[in-house]
Amino acid sequence: MCKAHVLSVASAKAPFEKTTIERRNLRPDDVLIDIKYCGICHSDIHNAYDEWGGGMFPMVPGHEMAGVVTAVGPEVTKFGVGDHVGAGCFVDSCGLCEYCLSGEEQFCTKGVINSYNSLDYDGNPTYGGYSQKIVVREDFVVRIPDALELDVASPLLCAGITTYSPLKHWNVSPGKKVAIVGLGGLGHLAVQYAHALGAEVTVLSQSLNKKDEALSLGADHYFATSDPATFSELTGRFDLILNTVSANLDVNAYLSLLRVDGTLVNVGAPGQPDKYHVFSLIMKRRSIAGSLVGGIRETQEMLDFSAQHGIAPKIEVICADQVDEAFERILRSDVRYRFVIDMSTL
Ligand code: NAP
Ligand code: ZN
Repeated sequence: MCKAHVLSVASAKAPFEKTTIERRNLRPDDVLIDIKYCGICHSDIHNAYDEWGGGMFPMVPGHEMAGVVTAVGPEVTKFGVGDHVGAGCFVDSCGLCEYCLSGEEQFCTKGVINSYNSLDYDGNPTYGGYSQKIVVREDFVVRIPDALELDVASPLLCAGITTYSPLKHWNVSPGKKVAIVGLGGLGHLAVQYAHALGAEVTVLSQSLNKKDEALSLGADHYFATSDPATFSELTGRFDLILNTVSANLDVNAYLSLLRVDGTLVNVGAPGQPDKYHVFSLIMKRRSIAGSLVGGIRETQEMLDFSAQHGIAPKIEVICADQVDEAFERILRSDVRYRFVIDMSTL
């Protein structure tokens, strides 16, 4: 076992405390990672505030980990000491079911093991990336390309793959009209991926405040959803809408923006159910869908694609004692666009 300094919350909405936990001894296929940076995902807030229910406390959030390998088990073949690596939302799966075999471990039928707020297959709680060290099976570790600095790479491990995966799955390509709803951590990466995949990209944000930044990220158009004229002007416009908003929206209003056969894909995950009228779907054969991060193989593909296309999150690096304040700022949409914790400050 090795001790790891962590940031932990004792109960829902409690402030962060600095404490230590034990990480397991390396198994033959384990990698020990010195976490250098961890991004703050809005899911960390949903979990730490127990907005989705079932929270396991004390909790060490964090699933956007980037760091350096410091030890490997004897059967590890893919990584060596000194490699720059990442770990994301999950750290284990059965490896045998149809979804694991097809590289979509997030849908593992035995149940994927989340990086935190989960019990592993031995029944031990998992603790996430607000931590200086983590032990992860090598199959759940990805390589960070040299072109990406570790601080900038960390948000890609969740925000990057969560937006890249549905854009690929729904065949975003030249000629497609795509709207990204919400220009936060996920949204500002989604704009970059959709643009790189050749789509015509529209950002739908609450206000006009982020217009110049959105255009510089590759958006072709930008509209404020606080202006009712936006919804009349854009009726029937989009092939795909990617909703990255952490709160409930007026789903019927967004469905009305889809063409015939258009799809509204939700990655934003508010704790309360959404409501929509079935006629919003029926009359134009529209679909509502959801998407959950992405598999390990696709996460590696997304990292390589990001490095190749110069795609990177805009980050604000913070110290370990600023995380409570960062949560509050995220809730006020006062972040451009991802907070990243510098783990050397823990
Ligand atoms: P974030 O940085 O807080 O961004 C969310 C954005 O949504 C905000 O920047 C804001 O954009 C918009 N927004 C917030 N409150 C709103 C409201 N009341 N009405 C309308 N728009 C609002 O969060 P994030 O880290 O990108 O995560 C976004 C959501 O995705 C969270 O619910 C998170 O749990 C979820 N998530 C899901 C997955 C998955 O696998 N499906 C993975 C990661 C995260 P504007 O200022 O531009 O309006
Ligand atoms: Zn996340």
